Amino acid sequence: MQTIAFIGLGNMGGPMAANLLKQGYQLNVFDLSADALAKLVAAGARAAASAADAAHGADAVISMLPAGRHVEGLYLGESGLFAQLPAGTLVIDCSTIDAATARKVAAAADAAGLKMLDAPVSGGTAGAAAGTLTFIVGGAAAELERARPLLQAMGKNIFHAGAAGAGQTAKICNNMLLGILMAGTAEALALGVKNGLDPKVLSDIISQSSGRNWATELYNPWPGVMENAPASRGYSGGFMTELMLKDLGLAEETALHSHAANPLGSLARNLYEEHAQAGFGKLDFSSILKHFHSLD
Ligand code: NAD
Repeated sequence: MQTIAFIGLGNMGGPMAANLLKQGYQLNVFDLSADALAKLVAAGARAAASAADAAHGADAVISMLPAGRHVEGLYLGESGLFAQLPAGTLVIDCSTIDAATARKVAAAADAAGLKMLDAPVSGGTAGAAAGTLTFIVGGAAAELERARPLLQAMGKNIFHAGAAGAGQTAKICNNMLLGILMAGTAEALALGVKNGLDPKVLSDIISQSSGRNWATELYNPWPGVMENAPASRGYSGGFMTELMLKDLGLAEETALHSHAANPLGSLARNLYEEHAQAGFGKLDFSSILKHFHSLD
């Protein structure tokens, strides 16, 4: 498998595609953003004029798009990729989308004789750049084995969550917890600072105590505490608040449909909703700190 079509070159897709190039794959890339496309062309990829052009002659297609409607739009319908890909082509969707749409798209792939996996990722933009992402895969085990070399070029841990859609369900559970932990971390740091503590000292204490989590260890929401975290570059790049809000909405829908209680996930969704409505939707989700502490 040598030529890969990569669709969606944003904060995550861009560095993931760049890692495939570094591993010697030939890449046909497409994104609606000319800037995103130009970065990958500079790294050695071939710019395609459309998703269909990128997929032409490719051995596999990888997509990294914002939400379910973008994934449906790419693959389904008369002008969608499934109508033109040769039977047997491997299709890997790495976007975080709802499990029902993932299952619908996988069923359409199956009907077209294609091999589809949902393979959402965890690890953030730093993990995407370093090639250390965790892939959470739904679909047939045989297709996962076919995809493994590609996933290994972009990630470190690969989990098979179950059948089609299971990768998305596991990813949504993870991100609901991440949203709660980030909001909780921001609340705790703001409480400490309000009571005279230095945010760096408090973060170091928590990181070695029972409140530690991914935010305190790798993605601190307080500006200046962690040099490489989005908080220290004006909350740019990273994982946008509006994408976290999407994922918390997916968790809420999943809870509703399965009659599960998710009071903390629901509260976190409301917090990020208010935060987005206050104008911070495009900032990294760790900017939820602004909800608890004024940075001006
Ligand atoms: P992003 O907005 O930075 O990138 C999405 C890209 O898709 C953009 O460049 C956009 O132009 C492009 N795009 C949209 N529709 C398109 C289409 N029809 N054809 C071609 N290109 C199209 O988002 P991101 O942060 O890279 O996130 C992508 C997915 O990964 C989301 O589902 C997100 O939830 C998930 N995710 C993000 C992170 C993170 O830390 N950013 C981590 C894990 C998972």
